This record gives sequence, structure tokens and C-alpha cells, in this order.
Amino acid sequence: MPWHREPAVRAVDDIHFDLYAGQTLGIVGAPGCGKRTLALALSDQLPTSAGSIRYRDQELTALSKKDWLQLRPQIQLASLNGRYALPPRKSAIDVVAESLRGLRPAVALAERRARATAALAAVGVEADIGAKPAGDLERSACVRVALARALATNPQLLICDELLSGLEAAARQPLITLLTALRGSGERAVIHISDDFALTAQLADRVLVMYLGKVMEQGAAASLHSQPKHPYSRELLTAPPVDARAAPPVVSRWLPSRDTARSHPPMGCVYHPRCPLAEHACVQSVPLLRRVKGEHYVACHFVAGGR
Ligand code: SF4
Repeated sequence: MPWHREPAVRAVDDIHFDLYAGQTLGIVGAPGCGKRTLALALSDQLPTSAGSIRYRDQELTALSKKDWLQLRPQIQLASLNGRYALPPRKSAIDVVAESLRGLRPAVALAERRARATAALAAVGVEADIGAKPAGDLERSACVRVALARALATNPQLLICDELLSGLEAAARQPLITLLTALRGSGERAVIHISDDFALTAQLADRVLVMYLGKVMEQGAAASLHSQPKHPYSRELLTAPPVDARAAPPVVSRWLPSRDTARSHPPMGCVYHPRCPLAEHACVQSVPLLRRVKGEHYVACHFVAGGR
């Protein structure tokens, strides 16, 4: 056959969670696990093929473009990835003011710039830094600009997309303090997307661990971090964080590559090719996400067996 159609990749599959104002959810997993796809689906940058995303009383997947544009200021993605990278020659004030132009077109230019300056100051970017080209800013200042851009419309749902990746510990700490303060008022829900389990557990109330588009474990951040039940959660906790912007890691010969694994996910438990506890049953059937205690859920055939 001269050509063949590539199989559709189901990047995110069978995920359910509720998030209320004042709560912070962390979504963790290695690059390629589907967490960013989920973030983009929630902020309507990516179309969904099935399922439901409800925001208050509205079904987001069924909104018209006009209705979505009206709702958009309430759901914002803070990111420096892909098309969210800061244009290097524009000042931070211009970056935020231009974002406001798209979200609040009725607001006059002078007012947009005043709001942009205030939004930047609220995240610790003073006017002299905000006037510099974004390309001259340190990464930690760029993170603050991305946050100001997302917060300028006072969103009810803020999604932070790997904001602290690639930062040294010293540069991270003030930003962790800032991100923690964003939870303060109780009026906003926040989602943190990251490959760093320990960091996410620090920032979030609840954590959802993803692998190849599926949830492996979810529950209260403190208990998942201190007593992870799923073998993949344990692996994530002991692995050094992967900088999503770096070259993809070398994959061992016996493991499927990330792209192959996404288009041809392993049968049974998707984690079985690398799970140290895998048995025959793991290849035969998909483990369901089951409640193990309170709001703690795990997708592993053997968790109840005390492994
Ligand atoms: S179901 Fe099997 S392969 Fe999957 S995590 Fe549990 S032990 Fe490992």
C-alpha cells in the first residue's frame, strides 16, 4: 500500500475531576503523558473528540466561538511554551496589553497599558523591568510576565503550564511563594501542570498522576507525596525532573518511544512495559481507577494486595 493512515492518538483518555473555587489541582507526569493536552483542552486551545468539560453551568465543548470569546477572560493559561513564548522584542507591558486587546477589545489602549502595568506590578515586575524587551529578561522574570498576562483579566480558573521548569532552586523559591499566594483569595481555582511531583505536591491540594494519557493515581497532595501507591508515582518521585524544553531522553531499546507508545499504547496496563511489579494479569486487562481510601484512587491490579 503506497500510504496508510496513522492511527489517531488518544492523548487523554477517561479522565474525570471536579475543581472548585479556592482549590488547586496538580497534574503531574513525564513529557508526553497528556497533561499539556489536557491543559489546552481546558483552555479551549485544542478541540476534544469526546467527553465533557463543564465550567460552572456551561458545557465548554459545545460553546459557539462567540460565547467562548466572552468566557475566555475567565479561563486563562499561563505558559511560555509554543505560541505562548514571549516575543523577544516586545516589552512585557506590550505583551500583557496586547493580550488584553484580544480579551477585552472594548478597553482603550491607554487603559490597557495601565492595566498591564498594574498586572505586572502585582506579580513583582516593576515598571522599569516591564519596559525592557522580553528577550532581555531572565527566565524567572518571563514567568512573572506570563503570569501577569494570564491574570490581567482576573480569571476564575488559572492553568499554569510548567512555569517553573528549567529554573534553579534559588530562582524557584520566590515564584513558589508567588504561586502559593495566588490561592489566597479563595475565589480562583488553579491547575498546575508539571513533571516535578515534589514541587506540584507543594503547590496543590490534590494531585493527579498521568501516564500515556491515563490517570494512574489521584488524591490529596500530601498523602500521594508521602505514601504513593502506584509504581509510576513512586518512579516519578525518585526520578529527577525532566526539563520539558530539553531534548527528549534516550529511550531504552526495549521500551516503546513516546510517540509510538501514544499511537500504539500497550495492552492492559499502559505502564506494564516498565513496571517492576508487572505480572501476566497486567498485560491481560486494564486496571480500573479504584478508591483505596477516602478520595485516594489508584489504577493498579495489585494495590489492594499491599504492594
Ligand atoms: S497493574 Fe501491573 S503493570 Fe500496572 S502498575 Fe499495577 S503492577 Fe504495574
